[in-house]
Amino acid sequence: MAGNFSDRDGLIWYNGKIVPWRDAKVHVLTHGLHYASSVFEGERAYNGTIFLCQEHSERFIRSAQLIDMEMPMNAEELNEAKYAILKANNLTDAYIRPVAFRGSEQLGISAQQTKTHIAIACWEWPSYFGNEAREKGISLQVAKWRAPMPDTATTASKAACLYATHTMSKHTAEAAGFTDALMLDYRGLVAECTGANIFMIKDGKIKTPDPDCFLNGLTRQTVIKLAEEHGFSVDVCQITLEELLSADEIFVTGTAAEITAIGKINDSTFTVGPVTRKLRDAYESLVRAPKAKAA
Ligand code: PMP
Repeated sequence: MAGNFSDRDGLIWYNGKIVPWRDAKVHVLTHGLHYASSVFEGERAYNGTIFLCQEHSERFIRSAQLIDMEMPMNAEELNEAKYAILKANNLTDAYIRPVAFRGSEQLGISAQQTKTHIAIACWEWPSYFGNEAREKGISLQVAKWRAPMPDTATTASKAACLYATHTMSKHTAEAAGFTDALMLDYRGLVAECTGANIFMIKDGKIKTPDPDCFLNGLTRQTVIKLAEEHGFSVDVCQITLEELLSADEIFVTGTAAEITAIGKINDSTFTVGPVTRKLRDAYESLVRAPKAKAA
């Protein structure tokens, strides 16, 4: 979506009401803005069906619980609100962005008096990395920032507070001409990209890092099942950068990214191989199937 996100036509679901896009505002003394007390989701609707709608709602609630923030809606209510805002905007193929944050009822480290506010926006967003990525794959620069130890951050939550290092890493990568950053973890093992999980293929076998200190993406979980259904073995394990760079094929997965091939990591190049193509086709068929399967 081009242009300023605060200034466009459309409707946003905001604390139980559907409001004009430009009216979905917060005050500058919002707790979520000062202390990153905010969690969010990224979802996609295909042909009018939100892929893994229930799973995304459940993760949204869990993300809030993990940062000790009350979530005033249950999964069914969230599902309903997501479909309501899609319909209100007359969209069938869209990206959906729910966000929950502490409001301005109290400002300080203690946030006992704050309420959780919820907004859900949606817009058309066909391809995260652009169409060129399909044939060539995207490029990754290994970031200097690392995925933190699970006891130093709420790594299993899709919490806003985790994304500062992701944005810095992505900016550094973009400034050097790369598409995205690859983050290692606190041990120096391969973790994830700034908004997607990573898979490697070597000698026909698929490997993906164990998500013990970063987001266990719903697309990642879906792709593991899909790969197994297609007869591949998937090893969830620790992966060093050296091992990753020796791969035959590499791809990343995410709701926005779907399955996107990697063409380059630092100076090492890769081609978009047959396993990536096969799984990408299978994923596309799955998400566009009339009733999308659960992860
Ligand atoms: N890691 C990070 C940091 C992300 O932001 C995302 C996107 N939500 C993912 C992984 C992939 O998660 P999912 O497949 O659930 O979209």
